[in-house]
Parts: sequence; C-alpha cells; structure tokens
Amino acid sequence: MSFKELHYRWEWKFKSQPEALWTWVADTNHFNRDAGLPALENRLGKGNRLANAKRRLRLMVFGTPLEYEEEPFEWIRPRRFGVVRHYLSGPLDTFRQSAELIPEEGGTRLIYDVWVKPKNILGLISTPIQIGILSRRQFETIFRRYDKLASLQRLPIEFPAHVEFAPGGRERLQVGRDRLLTQGAGRALVDRLIETLERGDAMALARIRPYALADYWNAPRRAVLELFLRATRAGLLNLQWDVLCPMCRGAKQKNETLSDLRMPVHCDTCNIDFYANFESSVELTFHPNPAIRSIEASEFCVAGPQTTPHIIAQQLIAPRSSRALTLPLEKGRYRLRALELNGGQLIAADTHGDAAVSVKASDSGWAGDELRVALTPTLNLENATTQEQLLILERIAWSDQSTTAAEVTALQTFRDLFASEALRPGDQISVGSLTIMFTDLKSSTQLYREIGDAPAFGLVMDHFDVLKQAIADEGGAVVKTIGDAVMAVFQRPAPALRAIFKAQEKLLKSSAARPLKLKAGIHYGSCIAVNLNDRLDYFGTTVNAASRLVELSSGNDIILSSAVRDDSEVQEILRELKAECVETNLKGFDKETFEVWRVYS
Ligand SMILES: [Zn+2]
Repeated sequence: MSFKELHYRWEWKFKSQPEALWTWVADTNHFNRDAGLPALENRLGKGNRLANAKRRLRLMVFGTPLEYEEEPFEWIRPRRFGVVRHYLSGPLDTFRQSAELIPEEGGTRLIYDVWVKPKNILGLISTPIQIGILSRRQFETIFRRYDKLASLQRLPIEFPAHVEFAPGGRERLQVGRDRLLTQGAGRALVDRLIETLERGDAMALARIRPYALADYWNAPRRAVLELFLRATRAGLLNLQWDVLCPMCRGAKQKNETLSDLRMPVHCDTCNIDFYANFESSVELTFHPNPAIRSIEASEFCVAGPQTTPHIIAQQLIAPRSSRALTLPLEKGRYRLRALELNGGQLIAADTHGDAAVSVKASDSGWAGDELRVALTPTLNLENATTQEQLLILERIAWSDQSTTAAEVTALQTFRDLFASEALRPGDQISVGSLTIMFTDLKSSTQLYREIGDAPAFGLVMDHFDVLKQAIADEGGAVVKTIGDAVMAVFQRPAPALRAIFKAQEKLLKSSAARPLKLKAGIHYGSCIAVNLNDRLDYFGTTVNAASRLVELSSGNDIILSSAVRDDSEVQEILRELKAECVETNLKGFDKETFEVWRVYS
C-alpha cells in the first residue's frame, strides 16, 4: 500500500536581514539540537563513503532505532537550503524539507516547506500531529529566538540551552581565574573568558576559535590568543590542533599535540589523501577542560550549510541535465567543482563581469580559463556526465579568523608555555613564508678577555633578556640560541626590524660598563618545520641564507635581504632611514641570488 505525500508550508516574517538570519537558521546542527532531536550516529563507519556525500545515519526515537539515507544538502547562501531523507526503518518513507529566505522591506520572509511520505498507517496518523501541529509551533519559537539574537548580532557561544558543570568544576573555574590574574593577565579579558566558560552554549564551546571570539569581543587577537594559551596551563581550557581537509575544510584529524600529527590525512567525504601544512590546514582551537565542563561532541546534523561556510552553493544535478542558479556573490575568487570529478573551474566575481555564464562538468574535465562574472550572476550549470554530480561553488580564500599553526608556533608565549611541542622525529611540514632573524654579539671574545669571564657572562645573559623581550613584544619568538647568537622567527618582516632596532638601542644605552653591539640579519621566505633536539625548529634555504646575512653586519646596522627590503611595511619604515646596497648577488643555498641591503638604525 502506497501513501500520498503530505505537504506543510509555513510562512513567517522576521526583523533581521537574510544574511544575519542565515547563520542561525542554516546551522542545522544547532537547530536540530534546539528542536530536541536525538544525536545522530554515522552508520557507514570510518573509511566508507557513498557517492556525492550521501550519508547513512541513525537516531533513536523512544528506544526504537530510525535509520535513513540522507541526500547531500542543497543550498544557495543566504537564500535557500533543503534536504531529502529516505528512511530504511520506521513509519516514514521519505522526508523533504526546504527553507527560503526572501529579503523584504524591514527584514526577511521565511518560507518553510516540509513534505512527508508515510510508509504505514502509524506514519499517516502521527505526521499531522507531529509535523503539522507540534513541529510548526516549536520551529516558530526557535526561529523567533534566532531572529532576536541575529538582530542583536550575538554569537551562539553566549547562549546556553543548559549548563552542566563537572563535579568541582565551578570551584576549579575560580582557581583558574585567580591563577591567570596572578600571572598578570588583564582582568577584563579574563572575566569574559570565565563568563563564556560559565554560561556558553556547549555546542559552540566544543570548538572555540580564539580570533573569532577576539573580533566579537572587540579585543586584540594576539592578547586573546595568548590568554587562551595561558588558560590551558591554568586548567581552564584544552587546546587541539585540527587538521583541515583542503576541499571541504572539515577537521579530519584532531590532535592534542603536534607530535600526534599523522600523515597523509584522509577525508572520507572528499575521498582524498592530503598532507597538512602549518600555513592553512592546521588550525588551533580550544575547548573547556573536562574537569570544569564536560562537553559531549554529539552531532545532530552532519552536513548542513553552516558546516562548510565557505561553500556558497551546493547542488545535486541529475545525469545529462542542467540547472540555472542566480547567486548573490561578493567580489572575489571562487572555484566550481564536482565532488566526484577531478579539477574545477575558477570564477572571479566583480562589478564588470558577465551577467550570465554557462559551465559544463564533463568526464574530460573543465573548460580551463577563469570566468569573470558579475556580482549577482546567473550560472547555467550543466552536468554532461552519465552520473549524478554534486556541484560545489566555494570561496577560495580561507577565513582569516583561523589561528594557523604557522602563526602560533612563531609566538614567544607559545614557545615558552609549550617548550616540548615538536613534530614526530623525521617529519617535515611546510609552514609557508616566515621571517627569520639571526643576531650575534660583536667582539664577544674580546669582551671576555677585557672584563673577565664572570662579568662578561652576566652581560651576555642580560643581552638575551633584552633581545627576547623585544622579540616577544613584536609577536615573534626565539627559536634557539647558539653561543652568543640567536635565531628568531616572525610572521612578517616589519616586526622583526622593529624588534632589532629596539634591542640595539637598549643595549647601546644600557648603563653597563661596556655597551654591547648586536649584529643582525633578516630574510623572508618559505620554510619547513622540523623536530631538532625535541624542539620545533625551522630549516630550508631561507634559514641558511639568513644565517649568512648576519656575518655582513658590523654591529650598528641591520642586514636585510631584498625580500625583506621590498616588503611594503618595511618600505614604510625605511622611508625615514638610509639603506645601502652592499652586495648584488649573494648566493642562497639554491641557485637563486639576491641583493643585500644595509640599514643604519
Ligand atoms: Zn574533505
């Protein structure tokens, strides 16, 4: 016996704009939890996958398992999304849902459709009550709350459904707070952190991104990151290195330490193996220490639009058919790809691009040249293959709110607090471009001879403190010392230059009997992170060349490579200073040669 599909349509009017409402309404994981749905269990198991990101899921309803196959969510951000579920057990045959956010004068009209095809009499009788009456009422209550929060520009992290502390958790929270304050952390930021841990929504706390929170708090990003690093030592937070898939950007491996990194990493959704790099694919996140609040990592929806916020549109297109989409795009670069095909089509959006373009996905690949489209273009997507294809349009830029491993490991606070953090012996990992600075004391042998070993040694030790402080103040870190020489690392060249200026000046002006002269060289380029003597160290031609620059310094100057000198921030600093070219073709350790510049502070 086959039953007719039942259809429910609800329309509500909300005050916030579609963009703001979207981050709440399209967060189906959060929504399903708020709607009281039970947690899901993935039935495919690790290493197994269905084509086009279809999933096999199970949840328990009144002690009865309900299993279904879920089609991939389809959406156009921030206008509409929907999903289809085919039940393998229970009273329903299929469930379809679609939500449309229409911008209107003074807010958004939300049209919410549900279609249900019952499998048996129980499904036929219960659906009008469960969906038609109960869900309608409950969904409206949740959406009204989301509308209010969206219009207040609040983050989900602030609003708990209910908070459960571990036994003794509240007391530990106060102990941790006192510990941070004793260490000199700023009271305002500490109290915001404590309040977040005390009241925050468990789902949002499961993966805290320090820069996103800093932006929301209107606080400096480095200060918040350093506070969180200290808070792990004070027993408040735990940290985690998430290895992100370069395609779906989901966290595919979660490690407590860098030495737990195992490569290559596999993504079941995208069916690829990849090698992590510190520059974009290893992100540092935090969660509450379980001794304070234990956060269960249950999932209530695994593939809704907000799990992959960089994907603007995702559409499942039948074999040999096409679909036209009108997309609200921001200026920038995008990639269109099909989950089951190799390669992709690059697309640039700006005001002067084409209003309509056609793109064909075929077994032989993609057309090639980058397409230029307008900001609200119509894309005619054609699936020319004989298989169903999941087409994905994604923004190419990574979120600047992620705290990358490249940044964190080049921070003095991190190296001080996590001195033993290293990679597995033998592993190498790309960290992208870093600034490497070497310094060395001028005429230190002479110093030891003239004023005696003990006083000279004291001066040399003092100079390490001055240098380390100047480096930390500018957001860099000391990697190691070799005799009187120091190797330091920075994210960008300009802070390295400012740090060495400060250190040289302070040492010259010091009241010591013998002011010290500091030689310095700075280079910028790509590096590899390695484990050397159980410490995180860097190597590569950039490091080797930087170590040679310092030999050209006379102690009242700084030697820069052309890569450093040409940096726009450095150019700004050099406008006031004299720079002279001292070498025109210093050899790096590869075949490249470069110019070397001398700057007087
Ligand atoms: Zn993936």
